[in-house]
Parts: sequence; structure tokens; C-alpha cells
Amino acid sequence: MLPTSAAVALVVTATGATVAESSSALTFDLTGQQTALARTEQAADEATTTDLAQRRQASAMQTAALAGRVEAKQRAARSAARKAAAEAAARAKAEREGKRWVKAIRTGTLTSGFGPRWGKTHDGLDIGAPTGTPIYAMSKGTVILSANVFSFGNKVEIRYWDGTVSWYGHMSRRDVAVGDTVMPGDQVGLVGNTGHSFGSHLHLEIHPTGGDNPINPAPWLKRHNIMVG
Ligand SMILES: [Zn+2]
Repeated sequence: MLPTSAAVALVVTATGATVAESSSALTFDLTGQQTALARTEQAADEATTTDLAQRRQASAMQTAALAGRVEAKQRAARSAARKAAAEAAARAKAEREGKRWVKAIRTGTLTSGFGPRWGKTHDGLDIGAPTGTPIYAMSKGTVILSANVFSFGNKVEIRYWDGTVSWYGHMSRRDVAVGDTVMPGDQVGLVGNTGHSFGSHLHLEIHPTGGDNPINPAPWLKRHNIMVG
């Protein structure tokens, strides 16, 4: 279906047709090489692109991993800070709780005050209460004596955080031992009638400096807002 003139030209130049053919083949071949080259370049480009993409992805993953580690560290730091704050708050609360003052006995009647009595000094307050009435530590402290001693009967001495020492006497039962740490309101024993006592009561003494130098407990107890009886 070649045009007539073209058909004529092919017929006229028979050798030329070979040239044209080989030229065409060369052209084809060149084109093939170019195509191959182009494919190679394209492949190389694709490879480069792929490589770049992979590197970018790897880099992004590394960045993400790094960011993840940083976040994890920050989370851990925040968690540690929260924990430390909570512990500090708990310590502060325990400190406040420990420094509270509470009544040595919740019920009872003042039957004898501090001062001269029967020709000698009565060194504390007597709070009349039924045997078995609970007796409490007035604040945070350490038990420095828990024993049945002459005259006092069952006696408990507590040295509080501020250095004050309280003596409780005539107890029917002691619930603490020497060295025990007590908190405000901890039960340390029960009211009784042991030792030199005429009737069930708590004998309470206050020694502000810890030595055997009792003061009138009433003003001290009132100052601490824990007067009894
Ligand atoms: Zn007494």
C-alpha cells in the first residue's frame, strides 16, 4: 500500500534499499541501544529513587525511634517526678500527722490535780475511768519504758518528737514495748488500778525536758488543746 512514487524509488535504487535497510537496522540498533541505555538509566534512576526512598524511610524510622526513645525518657522522667512529688507529699502528710497532738484518754473525770497531796507532791493528773478504758499516745514518739514498777504499777513512758516525755501509770494492761514507735492516737494500754492506787484511774505526768522534773500537766495539755478529764 505504498504510494506509487515511493514504490518507484525502492525499485530504482535496489542497492540503496540495502543501505536504507542497514541504515534502518543501524537506526533500529541505535534505538535499541538507546532504549537499553535509557532503560538502564531509568533503572538506575529507579534504583536511586528506591534507594533514596529506602534511606529516607530508614532515616524516618531512626528519627521516629529516636523520638520514641526521647518520648519514653520524657515519660519516665515525668513519671519519676510525679512519684517523687507523691512521696514528698506523703512524707509531708506523715510529718504533719506525726506532729498532731491527741488526748491521752477520751473519757474520764479529773479526780486529782497536780500539787501537794497527803504531805507530798502529786506529780500529775488523775483521770478516773473504768478499768479497760483505752489510753493513747498523744503524738508521734518512742516508747522508752514499759514495765510494772513500784508505786506506778503498769507504767508506760513515751518520748515525743519534741522531746516531751509522758508517764502513764496504774494501767491494767500495757500494749507497747520499749523501742516501739507510736503515732498520735495509737493505743498503748488500758486504764487500771495497779501499783499504789485506790480506784481505777490514769495517772498522767508531763516531763517537758525528759528528765524527772514534772510540770503541772493541765496548762501544757490545754496549750496543746488536748486537756483531759
Ligand atoms: Zn496520780
